[in-house]
Amino acid sequence: MKVQIDYDLCMGDGNCNKVCPEVFAYDDDQLIGRVIVDEVPPELEDRVRRAAEECAPGAIVIKE
Ligand code: SF4
Repeated sequence: MKVQIDYDLCMGDGNCNKVCPEVFAYDDDQLIGRVIVDEVPPELEDRVRRAAEECAPGAIVIKE
């Protein structure tokens, strides 16, 4: 699984970082989420899916 953030949509609430800090960082300077891994480890895939579901503007794009 790979994951990206659509920066046209991200509203910077930092929820993805709270749900899965192993995959999403929060950029305090730009006030947006950041993906910090190339490939999502299998054991974190469910939490990345949850982060995507909870991302209000739908900015988290998952590629299986
Ligand atoms: S949860 Fe969505 S809107 Fe919030 S910081 Fe992450 S990508 Fe951006």
